[in-house]
Parts: sequence; C-alpha cells; structure tokens
Amino acid sequence: MTGDASRRAPGGRAASAPLMGKATEPTIFEYSAPGRRAWSLRTTGLPEWSAEELVPAAHLRAEPLALPEVAERDLVGHFTRLSHRQYSVDLGAYPLGSCTMKYNPKVCDEAASLAAFRDVHPATPPVGAQGWLQVLVELEEALCEITGMAAATLQPAAGAAGELTGLLLMRAWHELAGERRTRVVVPESAHGTNPASVTLGGYTPVTVGTDARGLVDRAALAAVLGPDVAGIVLTNPNTLGLFEEEILEIAQMVHDVGGLLYYDGANLNPILGVVRPGDMGFDIVHLNLHKTFATPHGGGGPGAGPVAVSQRLVDLLPGPRPVRVGDGYGFATPPRSIGRIHSFHGNALVLLRAWCYIKLNGGEGLRRVAQVSVLNANWLHEKLRGAYDFPFDRPVMHECVVSAASLKRETGVRALDVAKRLLEEGFHAPTVYFPLVVEESLMIEPTETESPETVAALAEALVSIAAEARAHAAAGEHQPAHDAPRTTPVGRLDETRAARKLVATFDARERPAD
Ligand SMILES: *Cc1c(COP(=O)(O)O)cnc(C)c1O
Repeated sequence: MTGDASRRAPGGRAASAPLMGKATEPTIFEYSAPGRRAWSLRTTGLPEWSAEELVPAAHLRAEPLALPEVAERDLVGHFTRLSHRQYSVDLGAYPLGSCTMKYNPKVCDEAASLAAFRDVHPATPPVGAQGWLQVLVELEEALCEITGMAAATLQPAAGAAGELTGLLLMRAWHELAGERRTRVVVPESAHGTNPASVTLGGYTPVTVGTDARGLVDRAALAAVLGPDVAGIVLTNPNTLGLFEEEILEIAQMVHDVGGLLYYDGANLNPILGVVRPGDMGFDIVHLNLHKTFATPHGGGGPGAGPVAVSQRLVDLLPGPRPVRVGDGYGFATPPRSIGRIHSFHGNALVLLRAWCYIKLNGGEGLRRVAQVSVLNANWLHEKLRGAYDFPFDRPVMHECVVSAASLKRETGVRALDVAKRLLEEGFHAPTVYFPLVVEESLMIEPTETESPETVAALAEALVSIAAEARAHAAAGEHQPAHDAPRTTPVGRLDETRAARKLVATFDARERPAD
C-alpha cells in the first residue's frame, strides 16, 4: 500500500501547522509514497536472501503487507509532532488521583537500556543470566522488606493482574484446606478493579459501606462476615486518601472467620518505610511498580504488579521464581504453585527500573518519598478549603478528595468542568467522579516529585477556577468552564461516543474535509 500521497503531500500540511495547534496531524499512511525508505543495511556486504529463500512458499503472503513507506525525516517529524500534542509526566504536574503519576527518573531508563540487560533473551539459562537473576531476587527481597511479607512473585503485568493472582492464591489456599468459600468482601470505596478481580477469581463480591469518618463501617463488616467469606480486599490508605485506623481489629475479625486479608497496595507512596501491610495482618499484597516505584505507566502497559505473601502462602506462588542457589542464582517452582501468570519473568525491564529506583533511594530515601507525598497532599488540601467542599475533613495521606457539589449548586460548574478548565492552566486533570461515595469528587494526588512552587501553582489554579465560576454565576454570565478546554489540540470530547460508536480502523478517504 502506498497511501494516498496525492491528497496530502508528505509533511506539507503539517509543515504549515503550528507545533501544538488544533491542526490535524495526518496518519503515517498519509505520508507514504512508493519506494520511500528511512535507512537500510544494504552496505553490510553480507549475502542477502529473498523472502522466498527464507520462508516456505505456503507461508508467504500473496500480497505485500500494507505498510507505510516514508522517509526518516517525515517519520521523525510525524512522531515528534504527535508527541507535542500530548501531556506527560515529563511536561509537568499530573495530579491524577489514585494513579500516582510521579516523575520517572531518567537514570532508571538508562539502566534498562544497557545492552547487558536489554539484549539478554528471557530463555537464557541461569548460568548466562546471573546479573539479571540477582536484580530480580534483590527486588523481591526489597519488596518483601517494604511490605513485611515472606516472598513475592514478580510475574503479574499490572495491578489488576496482581489482584487476580492474589484472588487465585486465596482460592488455592482455601481449596487446599478442603473449603469452598464463595464470597469476598470489598469496601464500597474500593478501586473498580477490586470487585472485577474478585468476580474473575470466581467469587461473589460483597460490599461494605463507609462510615461518617470515611473508613470501613465495622458494624457493616461484622454483619457480612461468615464461614463462606474467603477474605477481604482492602486498600489502606483507602481511596478517600484516609488511613484505616482500625485495621488491626478488621484483620482480627476477618481472620476469626477463617478469611484472608488482601491488601491493594497499588499506591504505597504514603506508607513506604512507615508501616507495613504484613504488620497490619495482611496475607497477600500487590504493588504497582508503575505507580509507587516510578516506572513508566506506558499507554496502559507495560506495568508490573508483583504480589507478596505471608509465610503460609509461599508454597502457592506462581513459578518458576528466581531464587538464590548457593553463591549464585537460579529458578525454583513452589511445590503447590498456582502456575504461571505471565510468560518468562514478567515485564523484566520494568522490574529493573523499580530495582534501580529502590537502590537509588535506599530505606531513608523511600521514607522521605512517603513523607513528602503526604506533606504535598495535605498542603494542597488545606489550600482548597473554602473553594471546594471537604466531604471528610481529616488529615489525608498521599492524595485528597474534595467535592465540587456546592460549586455545582451555586454556579452550574461541575467537577468535570473544573477538570477540563484545569487543562487550560497547563496541568493534567485530577481524577473525577471517583471514589463513587463522594458526590462531584475531585481526587487530587500531587505526588512527592512536584516542587512546593508547582503544588502552590496547582492549588492556585484550582482555587481561581472556583472563584471564576462564582464570579460568572454572580454576574449571570456564561461559564467559560463549560467550553473548556479551549487551548488543547482536542477540545471537549463526547465522553461516551467512543464506547457507543467504536471505530477500530482508519481510512484516510473517509476523513471529513476540513
Ligand atoms: C491503579 C490501581 C489499581 C489497578 O492497577 P493497574 O495497574 O491499572 O491494573 C488497583 N487498585 C488501586 C487502588 C489503584 O490505584
């Protein structure tokens, strides 16, 4: 395929378009022209084989694959322009609550791009991969020290994959004891993946409510606990950014009915080096390396969601696991392993970045991460007093949840409008309408990597958006926030259209004329 080069000369349109303006960037196919190439290795002097010589005829395509043919200059220009239309953690603050969009240190990327790590095939026998295995074993040991658990699997590729792994471990544990339990308790403030993972794990989720303090309602918990409860999935601090103070009592209640405690440790920021899930009585915990341990989130992946367990669950962990063998390293599969969760060793280059981050910070550095993330969130929270409602007016952990309910009543400007208006101020939006237990919620997580000046500017922007809305309402004027964002490459999107009218392929000929 050659693309429709006659309609749009390569680079022509884009060359006249501003770097970050509203102009549409053509697809890579629209830059294509027959025979255009970036670079080639034709000068190596090695013999060249044709496809026919290398692949049996029966396996060859009848028609060549429809790939774009572009010059390197146009290729680099295209992707660079696209990258300029994005907001990212490298550009500025990204206070997307629950997602911990902290800055990712470049030195960790540097380590992951070293050929000695990058170019090792995952099937290399242990003798040829001792350095890699050392990294994986040391990462597991560090995560166990941080969480207070006995052993961990590094295989799960994300937080949700870790949750499923944890639920499968819970299931295997009860089955070994000859028990068939059917329900798992999930607080109503839980992350959406929690009830989904419980269901995928073959259990029925049972919801318990939140009390007036924003914590698990213990009376409601007592009412649902029984011999058919396999366990509870809990986040501490919970998704309201609040620390479950009665966690030891909750652990006792669940253990008393023979259930296990699962800790959703996606966001470990505020407790790093301060308290440990293992010491709180948890049996299973997953961590999101792509949140707490500063590895890239990617476009939905690759991430890494290691799962750490207490001593009594170690024999069930997925395998094979990298382990110490004498003075070196090898693999071992636990005797009652639930099996593989991922091919090879998980997303190894993400694991390497997290190992690097932990080594760089050390124990003291990680505790400082926790302290500064909590300080930044509380400082920001206090600055928003008066502009937004405080559904739970208590000190928060690494993120704060405020509500735009009064603002909406007074001005018609909703949490969604505030989020869109914030984009115009040069910040990424916070999480909105989650947790579900708070009306018009804005969940804001500044993270520890932002300077006091940046957190102050973010607070100032949020306060001035509320003030602007109130001023316009008082004057009976149209609300600018309703039209936001007006300065981004793409304006206000129809939030449901992509789901209702899924278009999975693109044909340049169908692009509307503009
Ligand atoms: C992000 C998050 C998850 C899910 O993690 P993924 O890597 O996106 O699958 C689960 N629980 C909580 C509390 C989270 O913040």
